[in-house]
Amino acid sequence: MIAIRGATSVEADTPEEIRQAVGELMRAICEQNSIAEEDIVCILLSNTADIRSLYPAKAAREAGFARAALFSAAEPDICGALPLCIRVMILAEKDIRPRHVYLRRAAALRRDRARFSVALDGPSGSGKSTAAKQLAKELDILYLDTGAMYRACAVKAQRAGVTEFTEESVAPLMASLDLRVDYVGGAQRTILDGEDVSEAIRRPEVSLAASRISALRCVRKKMVEMQRKIASERSCVLDGRDIGTVVLPAADFKFFITASVDVRAKRRYDELKGKGFDVQFDAVRREIEERDRGDETRAFSPLRRADDALLVDTSGMTAEEVVAFLKKKIQERV
Ligand code: C5P
Repeated sequence: MIAIRGATSVEADTPEEIRQAVGELMRAICEQNSIAEEDIVCILLSNTADIRSLYPAKAAREAGFARAALFSAAEPDICGALPLCIRVMILAEKDIRPRHVYLRRAAALRRDRARFSVALDGPSGSGKSTAAKQLAKELDILYLDTGAMYRACAVKAQRAGVTEFTEESVAPLMASLDLRVDYVGGAQRTILDGEDVSEAIRRPEVSLAASRISALRCVRKKMVEMQRKIASERSCVLDGRDIGTVVLPAADFKFFITASVDVRAKRRYDELKGKGFDVQFDAVRREIEERDRGDETRAFSPLRRADDALLVDTSGMTAEEVVAFLKKKIQERV
C-alpha cells in the first residue's frame, strides 16, 4: 500500500474549474505513479475554505474515480495559506515509491519535491534575461545568467591583454580561470579572480568580445561544465544561447525567445542609455546583428532553437506579459 500526496489550485470557485482541476490532478497522479483506478483504495480530499461551489470528492467521482472510498473536508481558514487550493491523499494497492504531484499554483507548495529546469534561449535583446530573472523570482528558484559567464571570460582575456581570441591564446587563460557565481539577496554576482565584476561585464565593449570568445571550444567546454554543475543541484532557470540544445538538453521546459532586430536594438539601446552609457542607436543595432551572425554561424554550439523548444516572439509583448506567459506554460505542466 502506498500513500500519494497531491495538490492543485483553481482560479475561481466554480464547479467547472473544480471539476477540471481535480480531474487533471487525479489523472496526473495515476499517470506519474503508473496506477489504475482499480488500484486506489481511498481518496481523501480537502479544500481551502474559499472553495464552496462543489465538493472536490464529487469532482473526483465525476472524473471517473467512483470505485474508491471518497471523502472531502474543508480546511481551517489559515492566514497566508495558498487560496483556492485543493489537496488530496490517495491510498493505493501498489508497491512503488510514490510520486507526489503538485499542479498549477500548488506547485509552489513543494518546490523541494519538484525539481525542474527551465531553458530560455534566444538572441541578444530578446528579453530573455529580464524574463528569466523575474520568472525565477516568481517561482522562487535559481536564475543563472550564462551570458554573464562568457562576459567574464571576455573580461579575463581583455585584462590579460589578449585581443585576438584563438584556442591557443585563450586556452591558458581558461586553465587558470577563477570564476564563481554567487547570489546576494537573490541577485547573481559574477566573481572573477576574487573580484566582483558584475558591473564591469555589462560595459558595451564587453558584449562583442563575449560573443567572440564564446565561439571557442576551450571556453564553451569549461562554461558548460560549470553551468551543468550549478543546474544539477536545484530547480533553476538558465538563459543563454545553447541551454536547450547543449547545456540541458533534457530540461523540463524549453523556450526560444526572440523579437525583431529593431525591437531588440531598441531595448538594448534603452538599457544602455538608462545605465548612462553614451551609445548611438545605429551602432547598437549593428552590434546586435553582428552578435546574431556570430552566435548563429559559429561551428561550436551555434544559437538555434531546440526542436522541442516553444518559440515565443516577444516583439509585441511587455516584459510582464512574457513572464506571465512562461509561468503559465510551466505551471500547467509542473
Ligand atoms: O546574453 P548575453 O548577451 O549577456 O551574452 C553575451 C554573449 O555570450 C552572447 O553574445 C553570446 O555570444 C554568448 N553566450 C553564449 N552562450 C550562452 C550565453 C551567452 O554563447 N549560453
